[in-house]
Order: sequence, then structure tokens, then C-alpha cells
Amino acid sequence: MIEKETLAVLRVQRARHLDIADTIDLHIAILGASASLEISVPPPPHDANERLSLGQPLLRADELSIDWTAATKFLQNLCAIFAHNYPNLATDLEEIAREFATPTATEEIVREWWIDPERKSLTSVVLYNVMRPVLSAYARAWVACVGEWQHSTCPICGGVTDFAALAVSSGARRMLCSQCNFEWDSTRVGCPFCDADQLAYFATRSGAYRLYVCDRCKRYLKTIDLRELARDANLPAERVLTIALDRAAHQAGYR
Ligand SMILES: [Zn+2]
Ligand SMILES: [Zn+2]
Repeated sequence: MIEKETLAVLRVQRARHLDIADTIDLHIAILGASASLEISVPPPPHDANERLSLGQPLLRADELSIDWTAATKFLQNLCAIFAHNYPNLATDLEEIAREFATPTATEEIVREWWIDPERKSLTSVVLYNVMRPVLSAYARAWVACVGEWQHSTCPICGGVTDFAALAVSSGARRMLCSQCNFEWDSTRVGCPFCDADQLAYFATRSGAYRLYVCDRCKRYLKTIDLRELARDANLPAERVLTIALDRAAHQAGYR
């Protein structure tokens, strides 16, 4: 499974990235905890082709079917993992854990989050990590439904991208969904968040990573340039390993 691969890459890379060992440890713990989640994905919607041809994602928020009791337990577990790794946030995390006291409360908050996932708060960060293994299961189960897709949001769950790769042969952009880890190729250039045609970028010293920034919507996209590397890359692991790029982008006023 892809998560196993991500876990293996993070374990190997930890020794080379001691400066961000705390972040890597957190994600190793999250992936470990998510392995206990059992997710049964329903068959794809009967009008899958129609939705995709209209540019709509396959999964709609109100159609999400998960075991809310298990999700609540997982969420409580994640709050404890976050608090263990970031003791300074422990009080806030305890408060979040209390908000999600019952399966009904979890369901309600998750559905709200889905409508506006990027409300910048700790709850949102926790929810991304709770929902990623769940939505990834949908992405794996429904991957065969998706053909050519040139939109900037995810065909599985409608999420936005937060990491991309430039392909070896063509330089085409492979997008990684921030919510479900689905990957799709896009020949589209320009900003995936607004209609701007062009993005500026800064490259790291090695040339392997780029930080694309949009001066219109002030958002950024981390990108790995596979043409510069002698290896393939596990994008979910790279998302974690490039946390320094997020910090640089935030400092420069991008979100
Ligand atoms: Zn997605
Ligand atoms: Zn933009």
C-alpha cells in the first residue's frame, strides 16, 4: 500500500533530516495510527462519468460514508499524538478532543470542514490528518473511474493540491491532492488556485525543489523537479520532507 511506502521513505530520510526530526516523527506516528482504521469504500457513484465530464469530483461531502465511531476514536488518538509531539499545544488539543466527544459531533464538524477545509486553525490541521487516510481509501478504490482530467481540483474528492512533481520526460505537472493523496497529471500551467496564467518560482540550491508562488491569490505550491533527481519520489513523503519550504513561503506572505 502507498502509505507503507511513505512510511518507509520517512523512516529512511529521518537520519538525513535531523533538523525536522520532530515533524517526521509526528507523521510516522500518524501513519502508524491510521493503519488500524478499517475503511470500507462503497462502489463509485452510478453517474461517475457524468460528474467527471462536468468537472465535478466523484465524492460529494453528503455522500461520504464512514464509521463515525471509529473516526472519533482515531481523532482522539491523533490529538494525543499531536500533543505528545507538540507539548506547547497540549491544552488546545485537549479542547479539540473534547469538541469531538461523540460520533455525531465528529460527523457534523467533518462535514463543515469539508465545505471550508482551509480555515486556518489547529482543528483544520488535525482534520486533514484524520480525513486523509479515509479519503485515500476512496481514491485507491475509485482510481479506475478517472481518465483524462485537466482541472486544478481533485477528481476524487474536490480537494486542492498542495504538492506537485514535474515529470521526467515531459515536464508535465503531476498534482497531489491535499485531502486524499490522489495524483493526477495536468498539462495546464499557471496557478492551480486562481486563474492567473503564470507563476513565479524560486528553486532550492540543488535545483530539485521549486516553490511556485502566485502574486494574484498569494498562494504557493511546493514542487519537486523529477528531472533533477536520479530517483522517483513518493509525493506524500516529500510533502513532509519539504516543511522548510512551507515556512519560507509563510514568511514571504504566501499561504
Ligand atoms: Zn482528493
Ligand atoms: Zn493564484
